[in-house]
Amino acid sequence: MSEEETDVMIGLETHIQLDTETKLFCGCPNEEAEEPNTHVCPTCLGHPGSKPRLNKKVLEHAVKTSQALQCDVNEEVFFSRKTYFYPDLSKDYQITQYEVPVAEDGEVEIKVGDEKKDIGITRLHIEEDPAKTRHKGGDIGNSDYTLVDYNRSGTPLLEIVTEPDFTSPKEARAYLQQLAQMLEYLEIYYPESNFALKSDANISIDGGQRVEVKNITGTAGIEKALSYEISRQKQLKKRGREVSQQTRSYNQNQEITEKLREKETEEDYGYIFDPDLTTQELDEEFREKLRAEIPELPHEKFKRFKEEYGLKDKLVEALVSVPEMADDFERLAEEFDTNLAASWMVGELKKVLNYNEVSYDEVNVESGAPDFLYVGLRVVLSHLEAGEFNQRKAEKYLRDFVEQGLDPEKEFSIDDPKADNIDLGLNLKDYKKSGDDEITEFVKEAIDENPDAVEDYNSGDEEAVNFLVGQVMSISQGKADPKTAREKILEELE
Ligand SMILES: [Zn+2]
Repeated sequence: MSEEETDVMIGLETHIQLDTETKLFCGCPNEEAEEPNTHVCPTCLGHPGSKPRLNKKVLEHAVKTSQALQCDVNEEVFFSRKTYFYPDLSKDYQITQYEVPVAEDGEVEIKVGDEKKDIGITRLHIEEDPAKTRHKGGDIGNSDYTLVDYNRSGTPLLEIVTEPDFTSPKEARAYLQQLAQMLEYLEIYYPESNFALKSDANISIDGGQRVEVKNITGTAGIEKALSYEISRQKQLKKRGREVSQQTRSYNQNQEITEKLREKETEEDYGYIFDPDLTTQELDEEFREKLRAEIPELPHEKFKRFKEEYGLKDKLVEALVSVPEMADDFERLAEEFDTNLAASWMVGELKKVLNYNEVSYDEVNVESGAPDFLYVGLRVVLSHLEAGEFNQRKAEKYLRDFVEQGLDPEKEFSIDDPKADNIDLGLNLKDYKKSGDDEITEFVKEAIDENPDAVEDYNSGDEEAVNFLVGQVMSISQGKADPKTAREKILEELE
């Protein structure tokens, strides 16, 4: 059976850890602590008599995300206890939503290459994260002993469950990337943060049994984990063996999936209504207030950029992928050629950022000036458009100002990006092309010092001009524009 003939069905359940100030049901700080078991209280440890109280911020994040995913938000939701007999939740149940989640029945359009496809969203609900366990001297199956750190216990999670609409690992990855980007626009999740995005995947091939693979971290891991699991199931079938319904875990180091247990069903969890938490009314006013706070989402921005600026898909995709970069682009597009601005941001600037292993936002934050990159780009673009920087010098300017950062003492005024006193800590004169007169001097010098090359040229060797251009570049320390230098050399040699 060839690759294409295998009928693959994948559904994802994705958990997003929310970066709220406090945990989901108590006032403990929701952040990493230096020592284990320090950000804990009777509530998140589940001591008798302690009562959970809902962090309303989480409800807002959940409703906003639901609306962005075009889900129907339920007007009244409540929480349930799910039997959970593992040491990483000390009260032996997890507070989650089961019967009525925050929202149901959504849809998101994904793009894989040029193909578009709608993925159904089954439901979105809120639940608490369990603690972290550390297995000493082995893994979960054979360690000597296990330590539990409850600092994470009670971190709020959004769980987004899709329909089994994915037919390839690539589609699943594209969905997670788009979801992460959308959540970044909603200011709910930041891919660079310590907060994790983890997925459990349900995979079946050719209508066979479903296998659940748990705990796949990030967006890149999903493609590897799913590819492995699909080929494992294919191998079983090829040998005439049954794929059994089971729960497996993803081993990130070895890039394989491993059997955890035979799959349990939802009924095994014995959900009961949590009597400590009140029913939440998500009335019209609450929903409308949040709807109004939803910004233009990545796919909407993509569409508008295409229409307004007429740029290539790849450029728009790259611009839109970083909200701050997209905003800066729009400001630059008011002044400069849109193609020039976009290609410098997506091309040269990205290269410099990757080389320095920093993100667009990080540079701005670290420089202490939110407009740092915008100002630098304005200098580069205005000098390029005025013909005062050549490509090479403009790239160098870009590299230098990103790498040296901004002296916190310095102020930069951005009234005139061509002004020589613009203070990003660099001297603009070092980057500008030499003036014509200066080039003439350099050309004369190159010709005087290289009589052999002149002789070669006169005897018909046109390549000798390239050598002389090289000499001019070297004498001018790279400031001369090679095209002008060539013209001047030819004039002199006539
Ligand atoms: Zn607590």
